[in-house]
Amino acid sequence: MTGPTPATTANARICPDCDGFASAKVTLGGRDRRGHLRIITAHCPACHGTGTRTARRPRTSDWEVAA
Ligand SMILES: [Zn+2]
Repeated sequence: MTGPTPATTANARICPDCDGFASAKVTLGGRDRRGHLRIITAHCPACHGTGTRTARRPRTSDWEVAA
Protein backbone atom coordinates (compact mmCIF):
# COMPACT_ATOMS: atom_id res chain seq x y z
CA MET A 1 0.00 0.00 0.00
CA THR A 2 1.42 3.35 -0.94
CA GLY A 3 0.50 6.76 0.40
CA PRO A 4 -0.63 9.75 -1.61
CA THR A 5 2.89 11.17 -1.68
CA PRO A 6 5.84 9.27 -3.09
CA ALA A 7 8.61 8.27 -0.73
CA THR A 8 11.55 10.61 -0.66
CA THR A 9 15.03 10.12 0.65
CA ALA A 10 13.93 11.80 3.89
CA ASN A 11 11.23 9.25 4.71
CA ALA A 12 12.34 6.25 2.67
CA ARG A 13 13.08 4.21 5.77
CA ILE A 14 9.72 4.76 7.46
CA CYS A 15 7.53 1.69 7.20
CA PRO A 16 4.91 2.40 4.48
CA ASP A 17 2.35 0.11 6.11
CA CYS A 18 2.13 1.88 9.46
CA ASP A 19 3.75 5.21 8.53
CA GLY A 20 6.09 4.97 11.50
CA PHE A 21 3.40 4.23 14.09
CA ALA A 22 4.48 0.65 14.52
CA SER A 23 2.66 -0.39 17.65
CA ALA A 24 -0.58 0.37 19.42
CA LYS A 25 -2.11 -0.49 22.76
CA VAL A 26 -5.41 -2.29 22.44
CA THR A 27 -7.82 -2.84 25.29
CA LEU A 28 -9.33 -6.31 25.55
CA GLY A 29 -12.29 -5.12 27.57
CA GLY A 30 -12.82 -5.65 31.24
CA ARG A 31 -10.40 -5.06 34.06
CA ASP A 32 -8.09 -7.17 36.13
CA ARG A 33 -8.40 -7.73 39.88
CA ARG A 34 -6.63 -4.43 40.60
CA GLY A 35 -9.00 -2.47 38.38
CA HIS A 36 -6.53 -1.90 35.55
CA LEU A 37 -7.61 -2.19 31.93
CA ARG A 38 -6.43 -5.36 30.23
CA ILE A 39 -4.21 -4.16 27.41
CA ILE A 40 -2.14 -5.85 24.74
CA THR A 41 0.40 -4.29 22.39
CA ALA A 42 -0.21 -4.87 18.69
CA HIS A 43 2.76 -4.50 16.37
CA CYS A 44 2.72 -3.71 12.68
CA PRO A 45 3.10 -7.06 10.89
CA ALA A 46 5.17 -5.52 8.11
CA CYS A 47 7.96 -4.02 10.22
CA HIS A 48 7.39 -6.04 13.43
CA GLY A 49 7.04 -2.95 15.59
CA THR A 50 10.20 -1.17 14.51
CA GLY A 51 8.52 1.50 12.36
CA THR A 52 11.22 1.31 9.72
CA ARG A 53 11.84 -0.80 6.66
CA THR A 54 15.02 -1.21 4.71
CA ALA A 55 15.01 0.81 1.53
CA ARG A 56 13.96 -1.32 -1.40
CA ARG A 57 16.56 -1.57 -4.10
CA PRO A 58 15.22 -1.42 -7.63
CA ARG A 59 15.86 -4.62 -9.50
CA THR A 60 17.82 -4.25 -12.70
CA SER A 61 15.27 -6.51 -14.42
CA ASP A 62 12.65 -3.78 -13.85
CA TRP A 63 14.74 -1.30 -15.81
CA GLU A 64 14.61 -3.22 -19.06
CA VAL A 65 12.33 -1.73 -21.67
CA ALA A 66 10.72 -3.89 -24.30
CA ALA A 67 11.84 -2.70 -27.70
ZN1 LIG B 1 5.18 -0.94 10.07
